[in-house]
Amino acid sequence: MSRYPLMVIGTVAIDSVETPFGAKQEVFGGSASYFSYASSFFIPAELVAVVGSDFPSEYKKILEERKIGLDHLNVLPSGKTFRWKGKYESDLNTAITLDTQLNVLLDFKPQLNQGVEPEFLFLANIDPVLQEEVLNQVKRPKCKLVACDTMNFWITSKKDDLLRVLKRVDLIIVNDGEARQLTGQPSLIKAGRMIQDFGPSIVVIKKGEHGALLFYEGNFFALPAFPLEEVFDPTGAGDTFAGGMVGYLAKQNVLNFETLKRAVAYGSVVASFTVEKFGLERLRLLSLGEIEERYQAFKKICHF
Ligand code: AMP
Repeated sequence: MSRYPLMVIGTVAIDSVETPFGAKQEVFGGSASYFSYASSFFIPAELVAVVGSDFPSEYKKILEERKIGLDHLNVLPSGKTFRWKGKYESDLNTAITLDTQLNVLLDFKPQLNQGVEPEFLFLANIDPVLQEEVLNQVKRPKCKLVACDTMNFWITSKKDDLLRVLKRVDLIIVNDGEARQLTGQPSLIKAGRMIQDFGPSIVVIKKGEHGALLFYEGNFFALPAFPLEEVFDPTGAGDTFAGGMVGYLAKQNVLNFETLKRAVAYGSVVASFTVEKFGLERLRLLSLGEIEERYQAFKKICHF
């Protein structure tokens, strides 16, 4: 039997991204790639994902360098890797999707190896049907926390499947636009409470440069974003927020309001590094020492 402290299912992608500061074609991306890279500063995750034969071996090495588990990284030799093309205009909080090519995701049947048991599971942004397939293979309560993310693409195309997943998760991390789209509710406070009624007792709503809200049972917490003068590329901010947050929780292995508040702060700090450079570039230079230093500075700014 293999017990994984943290497991993630999501996309491993090839992205093409345009921001007001430049554009790059065919770079390493994907919700699970960003999540697992960020969580590796706290705990290495086992990655459940699929890529095609065109997936560059140097991208695999980037994950291996962080000790991310790749036993469940499937390669479909006849297929092409998932591709996403997006751009950001002057509002850097909002990604505009230009093209989504599901490719190998269309034939993906995630299968956990025999005897595999995650303690913390993150269902990163991917088809909710695939999130559910992984969830069906995991034993509760041995798996202590199931968390998930999603985006407008899936809320629009697969809302019923997503709502079925939400019934079975403990924590959801979404952005403000997704929270409003999911609930039809303009007030984020009401939206947070409504999403709790869908299933998760813990709801985090990210508001980009305006911080994040945490709803935990009857408790509420709000945190600003770490104040950055310049944001270069917001891609991956959401996934690395989740990676920092859930990675910290898995490392602490404790779930209470105090730990959750700190986890939201760690998620914000890791995401604040991500956006300083293009794609994974900044995280690849990052150390846990820098994360701790910024966390302490953040704590001072927020204290009154
Ligand atoms: P974020 O952290 O929200 O900026 O997510 C960025 C990543 O999401 C990119 O690297 C994309 O490859 C990935 N992505 C974009 N669209 C989808 C989708 N429909 N499903 C899963 N992942 C996606």
